[in-house]
Amino acid sequence: MTLPLPHSRAAAAAAGEVPGWTGQESLAESDPEMWELVQKEKDRQCRGLELIASENFCSRAALEALGSCLNNKYSEGYPGKRYYGGAEVVDQIELLCQQRALEAFDLDPARWGVNVQPYSGSPANFAAYTALLQPHERIMGLDLPDGGHLTHGYMSDVKRISATSIFFESMPYKLNPATGLIDYEQLEVTARLFRPRLIIAGTSAYARLIDYARMKKVCEEVRAYLLADMAHISGLVAAKVVPSPFEHADLVTSTTHKTLRGARSGLIFYRKGLRSVDKKTGKETPYNLEEPINFAVFPSLQGGPHNHAIAAVAVALKQASSPAFREYCQQVLKNAKAMAEALLQRGYTLVSGGTDNHLVLVDLRPKGIDGARAERVLELVSITANKNTCPGDKSALTPGGLRLGAPALTSRRFQEADFQKVVAFIDEGISIGLEVKSKTTKLQDFKSFLLSDAATQSRLADLRQRVETFARSFPMPGFQER
Ligand SMILES: *Cc1c(COP(=O)(O)O)cnc(C)c1O
Repeated sequence: MTLPLPHSRAAAAAAGEVPGWTGQESLAESDPEMWELVQKEKDRQCRGLELIASENFCSRAALEALGSCLNNKYSEGYPGKRYYGGAEVVDQIELLCQQRALEAFDLDPARWGVNVQPYSGSPANFAAYTALLQPHERIMGLDLPDGGHLTHGYMSDVKRISATSIFFESMPYKLNPATGLIDYEQLEVTARLFRPRLIIAGTSAYARLIDYARMKKVCEEVRAYLLADMAHISGLVAAKVVPSPFEHADLVTSTTHKTLRGARSGLIFYRKGLRSVDKKTGKETPYNLEEPINFAVFPSLQGGPHNHAIAAVAVALKQASSPAFREYCQQVLKNAKAMAEALLQRGYTLVSGGTDNHLVLVDLRPKGIDGARAERVLELVSITANKNTCPGDKSALTPGGLRLGAPALTSRRFQEADFQKVVAFIDEGISIGLEVKSKTTKLQDFKSFLLSDAATQSRLADLRQRVETFARSFPMPGFQER
């Protein structure tokens, strides 16, 4: 006779057994060291001003799905076509996620399909390239120092950095240094010479809107695919507060954890149906993207889908289809504009002069400081932002710019006046940075002075204390303690 297995320590103890592994202890009980680190990070997020433009605060509901039993299930393949049994529930979850992804962006299922399995934005892009291109075929994207993303291709004089440039031939397009806007004319000239098979429209550090129609025209001329990578702006697109790339693009990739505010994951949307009609012969060419995209994600590049992430993304997509989310995104734009105006009023220079989206790019060079020094001082006063290259920058380690985004703090219900306060804090931090810069030489020297000079330390402590008191007064999405 076999006895039923004990379901808890209490049951085991009651049965007089030696307690074995139940897997039912809380994190705090099972691993106090890790629990403490998680709580420390939670506290850091609550007391700080989070201005990293790619970050956001995911909802408790989505995090519950993420931290669920769905983590356990292997389901290589696609709904109805799995290599493992027991997939009936995760099939429903993946189909629901697909349906919500199409609904969130107002897409007709006859014209668009979506793969929800990419582990994140970078794997989504690589899967799209794998589906569309032969090794060493040509691809064009916005240069990394100009606001593009590593996955759009990046190489230095001596090394191919991004796998996109290792396995394919990448050619960047650039910003016009005078205006800080994408140089579409140069893009057109280069595309005619380079004849890429794929052009990417998408940015990670660009404060303006993209002219998808113009890029589509170049693509048609040189017979390239247009891939829109809306990783940063997908929430804004879902909320219809910025122009949609779906009108013009053949494929659209995205992350799900930036403005979309879900779990970390990736999406690939692809067109279905008619691609083109030959003007002379009338011959119709259909899109052939669904099978290559799905095959590239699995089995070419990935194994088992992250069902917990897919479920959490489905939860976030449902939220993203709500009127409340549209209001959130409208507020993100208002806050970014308020931040831009407050910075201009205080004499800062902005790349492109302002913003049309969720972020601003501050050119600190006219102020006499660089992004690396600014990032470090701000970090010491609990303001998190990141250094960024500006057009014309020579060094990526001490670039002239600072990228500031509104999405995360807007999720904490910050409004325009709160962002003016945020800018006042940033300005105070930068004044400290300027003073320390005048007393030091190299970046390393600057950094050690910040930690060793007593007068600077007390100024930083005073500012940090005011920043943290301010930040803590705002609500925080997610779980109370983690
Ligand atoms: C963030 C980002 C990605 C990559 O996403 P990860 O989830 O970090 O891999 C890709 N493209 C663009 C434009 C991005 O901003």
